[in-house]
Amino acid sequence: MIASSPYARFQENLEVTLKRLKASKREQDVLREPQYNHKKEIEITRDDGSKLKLHAFRVQYNNARGPYKGGIRFHPEADENEVKALAALMAIKTAVVDIPFGGSKGGVQVNPKELSKREVEAVSRGYVKAFVDHLGPEIDVPAPDVNTNPDIMAWMRDEFEKITKTFAPAFITGKPLSYGGSEGRDTATARGAFFIIQEMVEREGLDSKELRVVIQGFGNAGSHMAELLHGAGFTIVAVSDSHGGIYVEGGLDPVRIDKYKKQTGSVTGEYCQGSVCDVEKMKLDNVRIVTNGELLELPCDILIPAALDNVITEKNAAKIQTKFIFELANGPTTPEADAILEKKGITVVPDVLLNAGGVTVSFFEWSQGRSGEQWTAEQVDSELRRTMLNAFTAVRREARREKLSYRMAAFSVGVKRILEAMRVRGWS
Ligand code: GLU
Repeated sequence: MIASSPYARFQENLEVTLKRLKASKREQDVLREPQYNHKKEIEITRDDGSKLKLHAFRVQYNNARGPYKGGIRFHPEADENEVKALAALMAIKTAVVDIPFGGSKGGVQVNPKELSKREVEAVSRGYVKAFVDHLGPEIDVPAPDVNTNPDIMAWMRDEFEKITKTFAPAFITGKPLSYGGSEGRDTATARGAFFIIQEMVEREGLDSKELRVVIQGFGNAGSHMAELLHGAGFTIVAVSDSHGGIYVEGGLDPVRIDKYKKQTGSVTGEYCQGSVCDVEKMKLDNVRIVTNGELLELPCDILIPAALDNVITEKNAAKIQTKFIFELANGPTTPEADAILEKKGITVVPDVLLNAGGVTVSFFEWSQGRSGEQWTAEQVDSELRRTMLNAFTAVRREARREKLSYRMAAFSVGVKRILEAMRVRGWS
């Protein structure tokens, strides 16, 4: 059966895990659907005076282990089903890294790239107004996700403090450093993944200098990932953003790509303006422009989807030419694709483990917000490393013991911990 929606894809992995763990009927019922599924309409006034109505979501999947936790994305395709799946993945993720949170997610169906800064601020404040009754430092703690950033977190915190007349630094994470943010939060997702990739490379006896890397997505996670790997000697052969990708067989310099992305809005900006490309210059530099679909099928050793979900499916999995897939995006691989990749001998390190560095440092930020302490960058980095490597060890052990893929092992570790919390609370 082909699981057609993001939540159906999550459920497929969940059902297998619940069965294997012999969860009771009641436990299965609790975990089959989110605890709360809030939907609202946000209305903002555009700069030209017209009104814009937007669909907004906050899904609270499970809080057995602690307050709900999860980012908010601004994306034209964000919908209830996707946000539901992402909320559920957050609960597994916080359990895999063993931080005291549950899982939730938010979304606004909007393309922020088509809005002015003032309009984005209105959407951000509107989101908090809409869901304020369901959010709070000990209830549900939001954070950045696709197309949201520290500025947006600052507006949201400010709005929450205004409405509730409180001082609430722990209301939201991913804030700017000057307004209750934590050292290391901006690079945390990539850095956490980097620790796992390094560990894997060492365990496999590989040499980073000989490994070719393809990265899909050049947002916060993808661009930092490219720079970290490049700095450690890996050869980044291709990167992309929503406009398309750039492939240089001999390796590219992500710092330079980042510079052009900032200047032109696109990773291909050094060679192309819109659809018009400087073919001579491309030839000279041995550059090929590729689509996002082509990029995933390039020959490489490490493939890192770092953008959206549902990009590695039964349609392209057989054509993927890599040894490892490290999922920096949430939900990039479908269960059907997983089966094909496994047959091909491709190792997939799943989202719920690999990209958990972001929410891990969110936990550090939340703790600092509650205690008033300020951690140094070194403290954050060493605690992040410890947390990620402990989680990786737990997943690896489970995989070996139960003969599971890393994804199913991570689900097993995460769901077991959620069930334990449900049992001690008497929810079973
Ligand atoms: N949006 C990130 C994720 O999907 C971070 C969530 C958080 O920090 O709460 O893991």
